[in-house]
Amino acid sequence: MAREPRETSAVQTFDALIVGAGLSGLYMLHRLRALGLSTLVLEQADGVGGTWYWNRYPGARCDIESLDYSYSFSPELEQEWTWSQRYAEQAEILEYINYVADRFDLRRDILFNTRVVSAHYNDAAAHWTLATEAGEQFVAKYCIMALGCLSAPQTPNFPGLEQFRGEWYQTGAWPHHPVDFRGKRVAVVGTGSSGIQSIPVIARDAEHLYVFQRTPNFSVPAHNRPADPAEVQRVKAHYAQHRERNRTSHSGFLVPRSPNMERSALEVDSATREQEYWWRWNNGGFGLTSAFNDLYSNLEANATAAAFVHDRIREIVRDPQVAELLIPRDHPIGTKRLCVDTDYYATYNRENVSLVNVRATPIVGITPAGIRTTAAEYAVDILVFAIGFDAMTGPLLRIDIRGSGGIALRDVWAGGPRTYLGIAIAGFPNMFTITGPGSPSVLSNMIISIEQHVEWVSECIEYLEEHQVRKIEATVAAQDAWVDRVNQLGEETLYPLANSWYVGANIPGKPRVFMPYVGGVGTYREECATVAEQGYAGFALTT
Ligand code: FAD
Ligand code: NAP
Repeated sequence: MAREPRETSAVQTFDALIVGAGLSGLYMLHRLRALGLSTLVLEQADGVGGTWYWNRYPGARCDIESLDYSYSFSPELEQEWTWSQRYAEQAEILEYINYVADRFDLRRDILFNTRVVSAHYNDAAAHWTLATEAGEQFVAKYCIMALGCLSAPQTPNFPGLEQFRGEWYQTGAWPHHPVDFRGKRVAVVGTGSSGIQSIPVIARDAEHLYVFQRTPNFSVPAHNRPADPAEVQRVKAHYAQHRERNRTSHSGFLVPRSPNMERSALEVDSATREQEYWWRWNNGGFGLTSAFNDLYSNLEANATAAAFVHDRIREIVRDPQVAELLIPRDHPIGTKRLCVDTDYYATYNRENVSLVNVRATPIVGITPAGIRTTAAEYAVDILVFAIGFDAMTGPLLRIDIRGSGGIALRDVWAGGPRTYLGIAIAGFPNMFTITGPGSPSVLSNMIISIEQHVEWVSECIEYLEEHQVRKIEATVAAQDAWVDRVNQLGEETLYPLANSWYVGANIPGKPRVFMPYVGGVGTYREECATVAEQGYAGFALTT
C-alpha cells in the first residue's frame, strides 16, 4: 500500500541504500554500519523478515534444519538463540529475525512501508537515485538490492476471481489475521513446496479440501520433531567448525554421509540402493538425492531414486488411482527444489480430501461459488492460491532499474539475466545484487549464500572506500565468461530438463535460462574470493 509522502520533500543522501529488510538486507545493514557508512534500508512491508514476514500460510516452515538455517555471523547470537524444533515454523523464524533486528539495533535505519519503484544511476555524480511509490527520493553512492529470489509472488489472474463470493488468499502474501478453515470447503491451487506444506494442515480443519494439481512434485518427509537438547548442545559446542563445514560444502548444509556417496547409483546392486534410500528417507529432509554421486548428472541413476519415491507414494496413498496421479513423471527427482513435508501423501487418505487433476481438466475460471474446470464446478468457501513466484529476476525487474547512460535492466535482460558472479551487472556500476541469478542462491541453504554475498560486498565496499574508488563496474568480458561458465555447469546436470522456476518455465513468456550457479557454494565461495584477492578481477575500478 502506498504511504503518504513524509513531510520533507528534500532528497535524502546516504553512503549506501539497501532495498529489502529480509535476512539479506538486515545483515547488509549491520556490516555497512560497521564500516561507518551512513546506510538506509527501504522495505515495502511494515516489518522485517522478508520471506518469513510474507509467507504466513498454515504449515510454513523451513526445509533446512534450523541449526543450519540461521545466521552464523555472531557467535553470541548463535549461543543465545535456541530453536524449538528441528525445522522451525514461520512464526518462530520471524520471531528470530525480529530478535536479530532488535539485538543489533537495526530498526532505526530501516524505512518500512516504502516500496522502491525506480533506481537510476547518474554517471556524472556517480550515484544512485531511488524513488519510492510515495514519491520520495533517496541518493547514495552504493545501491544494494537485497530483494530476495522469491519475493515477487504470482498474482492469481484466473478469469472471474473478482466475482468470487468467498474469501481468497495467496500463500506468498498471507494476511496477518488468522484464517479459520473449520467447517469450510476449501480449494488449494498448486502443489509446489507452499501447497505441499499447507495442504495437510488445512485438511485437518476444513470440512472438505479440494487440491487442484497440475504437476505433481517430489516430496520427502521432514520427520520434524522437537529439538533434541543433546544435539543442540553438541552443535553449539562446536558451532564455528559446524558452520565452516557448511560454508565449504556443496549446498550449504551437511547431509548424512555414507561411502555410497562416492559411487554411482548404477555401480551397486538394487538391494544396496534400496537400503541407502531407505536410510535417507527415514532420516528425513534433503539427504535422499545425495545418496550417490550421479543422481544429478545421469538420468538412469536418477530414475532409481525417483522410482524409490514412486514406491513410497504407492505405499502411503491407499487409493491406487490417486497415488498414480501424485507420482511425478515429468522431471528427474531433485531438478525442482525437493519439497520437505509433514504427512503430505498420507493426507490423501482422508475422507475430506479430493485431488483434482487440472492437467487433464484445466481450470477454466472462478465462478461466484468456486472453481470451474473443463469437467466440473467445485463449490468452495475459501480459495488458496499456492501458485509460486516470478523467481530470481522478478523482484529486480519489477523496479525500473537504469544504469550507465540510462540503459534499462529490463532491456538488458530481455533475453534472460546476465550477471558477473550473480553479484554485479555490467552497465550498472556500484550496484550489488544479493543472491542474484548466476550465484548458488536458491540451490543452497540460502542463509549461507546470503552471508557469503553480504560479506563479499561489504569487503568490496571497504576496499573501494580505502582506495578512493569512485566507481566499480563488472566488465562485459568478465560477465560473458561468467554467464558461459554458469550455463556450462548447468548443462552438465539434469536441472535444465525440468520445467521449473529455476529456468523461468512457470512464467509465460519468460526467457528459458537456467539461472542458478550449480557448482556448489564451497567452490563458488573460492571463485569469489579469488576475484577479490586479485584486486577485483573482472571489474573496472575508476578513481
Ligand atoms: P527476502 O526474504 O525475500 O526479503 C526481500 C525483501 O525485499 C522483502 O521483505 C520484500 O518486501 C523487500 N522488497 C522486494 N522488493 C522491494 C521493493 N521494490 N521495495 C521495497 N522492498 C522490496 N530458503 C532456505 O534456504 N531454506 C528454507 O527453508 C526456505 N524456505 C522458504 C520458504 C518459503 C515459503 C519461501 C518463499 C522461500 C524460502 N526459502 C528458503 C528462500 C528464502 O527466500 C531465503 O531463505 C531467504 O529468506 C531470503 O532472504 P532475503 O532477505 O534475501 O529475501
Ligand atoms: P512453485 O514451486 O512454483 O509451485 C507453484 C504451484 O502452483 C505448482 O504446482 C504449479 O503447477 C501451480 N500453478 C501455478 N499456476 C497455476 C495455474 N494457473 N493453474 C494450476 N496450477 C498452477 O511455488 P511454491 O510452492 O511457492 O514454492 C516456490 C519455492 O519457494 C520452492 O521451490 C522453495 O524454494 C521455496 N519454498 C520453500 C518452502 C519450504 O519448504 N521451506 C516452502 C515454500 C516455498 P505447475 O508445476 O504445473 O506450473
